[in-house]
Amino acid sequence: MGEIATKVLVLGGGPGGYVAAIRAGQHHLDTVLVEESRLGGTCLNVGCIPSKALIHAAEAYSQARHQEAGNAFGLSVGSPALDFGKTLAWKEGIVRRLNTGVAALLKRSRVNILRGHGTMLDGKTCRVETDTGPETIRAEHVVIATGSEPMALPALPFGGKVISSTEALSLLAVPASMAVVGAGYIGLELGIAFAKLGAKVTVVEAASRILPLYDAELTRPVARRMQALGIEVLLGAKAEGLSEGGALRVSASGGLEEIEAERILVAVGRAPRTAGWGLERLDLTMRERFIAIDERCATSMRNVWAIGDVTGEPMLAHRAMAQGEMVADILAGKRRAFHKVAIPAVCFTDPEIVSAGLSPEEAKATGIEVKTGLFPFQANGRAMTLESEDGFVRVTARADNHLVLGIQAVGAGVSELAASFGLALEMGARLEDVAGTIHAHPTLGEAFHEASLKTLGEALHI
Ligand code: FAD
Ligand code: NAD
Repeated sequence: MGEIATKVLVLGGGPGGYVAAIRAGQHHLDTVLVEESRLGGTCLNVGCIPSKALIHAAEAYSQARHQEAGNAFGLSVGSPALDFGKTLAWKEGIVRRLNTGVAALLKRSRVNILRGHGTMLDGKTCRVETDTGPETIRAEHVVIATGSEPMALPALPFGGKVISSTEALSLLAVPASMAVVGAGYIGLELGIAFAKLGAKVTVVEAASRILPLYDAELTRPVARRMQALGIEVLLGAKAEGLSEGGALRVSASGGLEEIEAERILVAVGRAPRTAGWGLERLDLTMRERFIAIDERCATSMRNVWAIGDVTGEPMLAHRAMAQGEMVADILAGKRRAFHKVAIPAVCFTDPEIVSAGLSPEEAKATGIEVKTGLFPFQANGRAMTLESEDGFVRVTARADNHLVLGIQAVGAGVSELAASFGLALEMGARLEDVAGTIHAHPTLGEAFHEASLKTLGEALHI
């Protein structure tokens, strides 16, 4: 049995863990990263990246099919065909390139990558089952980055036709029909993609509207598009289990209903990975199911840090990465705290949704007097040339000093606006700052400029 002494041990090589390890290595801290599976975690292997690849392929195929009958600008194409095997291979190729890239970055930072399942024996010691036998690591600092896993419904356990996002991203063929339980991020991103690939999709959502974490105004264009794609949506409906014949049993206001589907994708949230690695041997304070952390990602145990999905919402890759980078800086002696004005969120539905900072309702709920301005893409030249006029940019600011509090957008391609929304909020922009910034023409970003002008009562193009 080998023994390694190190300054920093990172348990888990997802976006949180690998970024923490790279930065720690860059700071010349002796660092060991323990990962039992492929580098990059959920995000790179079975999450963000493969889902966006599938969404892109589905959109390209759906666009081509849409052009068969000819379109407004005169393009018509023959009958398109999709070799789904090639789609999967292409997606896998992207994942492999990124796996290799992460390994190279870690190596360049002189991080020692230990492959195998890690179990904490106490707050400083981890036993790793590697291919060549167990290794024991003793570390001054431990960063827990074990991430999350799909949450199962007790009445609808995973197996057979009931699948999680992980299996949905690796199906060998497009199913003829798919029932999706949960109209959250995963259910809608993947449900819309499979509908575009040709599956008959039915979405079952317990809440009274789709994407309940966003406000109704923001999600309306997505609901419209889903209807146009022929996706059936059952709201206020709960998945209750399978019938004897294997149909999905759903209880809704109208009573019990059965939905026949070749596959049932359960996407009702993700659970923090807190079992199977010795958490019970650590004296960590928990916050509900998650490891409790303070603004420095410190846990209740000295020199034990936690980052990413295992620490709670929002379970987003860029939050995990920002936390990982910060913890490594702290271990190198820098004074840092996680005081971000906003963690932008993007939902890669059709159309896409971006939200940074407070929604108008959330801003009002703080008791401050606010102003909101909305600029529709129908009045944006670039959106017209892209045939994507459904959607808008909406800005909310304090009424007294015009400090921008929140920015949301829905529309084709708006995910790329997340950067400017985040920057504006983080830099404490006022409406006048956005209004006084030249936004290149013709771009979708001009709608941010115009929404800010409109909030000031000075709109030009509406
Ligand atoms: P994870 O990525 O879950 O990584 C944890 C790692 O730890 C894993 O590699 C695991 O193998 C390893 N590990 C755990 N325990 C041990 C152990 N005992 N020993 C050794 N190794 C261990 N987020 C976005 O921001 N944008 C998106 O577009 C997006 N799309 C998504 C799409 C899907 C389908 C899914 C499922 C998620 C998506 N997410 C997205 C969420 C994102 O994937 C997570 O927020 C992110 O991966 C969290 O990073 P993490 O480092 O905390 O954990
Ligand atoms: P989610 O929390 O986004 O949505 C789950 C949905 O399921 C909710 O709308 C909930 O009301 C519904 N639900 C719960 N129980 C139900 C039941 N019994 N019957 C019917 N509906 C039910 O969860 P998710 O879609 O599984 O995604 C998990 C996490 O992964 C997200 O919270 C997010 O942090 C992350 N993610 C992010 C992105 C992105 O950033 N673009 C993409 C995918 C996943």
